[in-house]
Amino acid sequence: MELNDSSLPQIRRILSWVLKNKYSDFYRKKYKGKVIPSKIKTVNDFKKIPFLEREDLVSASPFDKIFTSFNFIKGVTATSGTTGKGPLVTFLPERMSMFEGKRVSASYLGTKNKIIELGIKYYLLIKPPFSINNSILENRSPFAVIADPDNFTASAEIASRLRIEAIHTTPTILYFFTPYLKKKYDLKKIKFIQFGGELCSNEKLMLFKRTFPNSYITNRYVASEGPVITWQCEYLAQKNLQLQHLLPGTIAECLDTLTGEEVARGDVGELVYTILYPDVFVPIRYRTGDYVIFKEEKCKCKKPYPIFEALGKIGYDSIAIQGTKLLISDILDAIKKTKGLVNDFKAHVHERIRGGRIYYIVEVQLIPKDKKNLKNLLFKEKIRDKMEKNLYISSSLTYKDLVDKDVFLPLKVEFMEKLPHEPKRRYFTAHY
Ligand SMILES: [Zn+2]
Repeated sequence: MELNDSSLPQIRRILSWVLKNKYSDFYRKKYKGKVIPSKIKTVNDFKKIPFLEREDLVSASPFDKIFTSFNFIKGVTATSGTTGKGPLVTFLPERMSMFEGKRVSASYLGTKNKIIELGIKYYLLIKPPFSINNSILENRSPFAVIADPDNFTASAEIASRLRIEAIHTTPTILYFFTPYLKKKYDLKKIKFIQFGGELCSNEKLMLFKRTFPNSYITNRYVASEGPVITWQCEYLAQKNLQLQHLLPGTIAECLDTLTGEEVARGDVGELVYTILYPDVFVPIRYRTGDYVIFKEEKCKCKKPYPIFEALGKIGYDSIAIQGTKLLISDILDAIKKTKGLVNDFKAHVHERIRGGRIYYIVEVQLIPKDKKNLKNLLFKEKIRDKMEKNLYISSSLTYKDLVDKDVFLPLKVEFMEKLPHEPKRRYFTAHY
């Protein structure tokens, strides 16, 4: 739903609901009397409401974020907490959302119908242990069995004995689980794959389509902090797993987080969303850290829901790739050792498929000190070489060593006159 004057009454209603809430004083504490619902009269007033940051959610107790009676709660999810800020634990109702004007269970948002259509009986859940929501387990059709992502051998054995037809997992787990499953089971029998928890790059999608030729594959961008806000129709699932419909009952802002201004339609911005209906937890102006592009196009499914493409998280100071850890400070060190460059850069990590395997490639956008070198290919090659040798991924291994060990593809260097305008100066963008 677009933010305009017609959304203001709903905004005032939900603000009153959270601020007068008898179960939680989360927003009363956060806003400290500075947000008064009746005074939100224009879109600009709404835009002055402070963002809800992930930090706010992590630092509050899970029990302080419950806005309803405990009877509504059907599950709990948590992140693993590996980002250093600790796990984010969230209580959830049965995952509900607004769809066709009604509140419906998230499992019905397209995927449930598909599961019925395909006649699936046995469904394998192989997900990080904290992300399996209790409400999934109540689902008796199909039967869901929980596999262990830390024990692929046993999980593949169980999958084969149960003759599973569907898998719910993350793209990363499936990528590593596939060789085990292949040994025990005919992959052609898998008819349905649902991803969650992370994005699936088109590179990976193409690989999965080849590996599971008879499977319908879908991904849903789910912000696990509150109600489900997106849905992937059949057309979007076929086209690109990053494309999602934004469901009604949600206001999305697509912001340049440096200026706080709305970006132009078609430009990249951070997804900031607000839920307009009461729920166990109601995110208001929640900064997801996810970068998206809202599309102009209408979908073939003819539903009126806007379409956005999820591009992933940006702003990482470090990024873990197949057991290695790349730090933004390491890139800066390599730049400093490599003469002739301005100490500012942007780093990207991409996935590439080569011979059925996923490789990673790091791309660095750099500014040569001398403008004359912008188009100097020889200079660029020299810089690339030096960067590879000076970029330490661990205390003893350089990027170059990992290229030689077949973990990374050669470093990519792009020279620019100035860096694209984006929220932070130095950080990674993960394009997968
Ligand atoms: Zn659609």
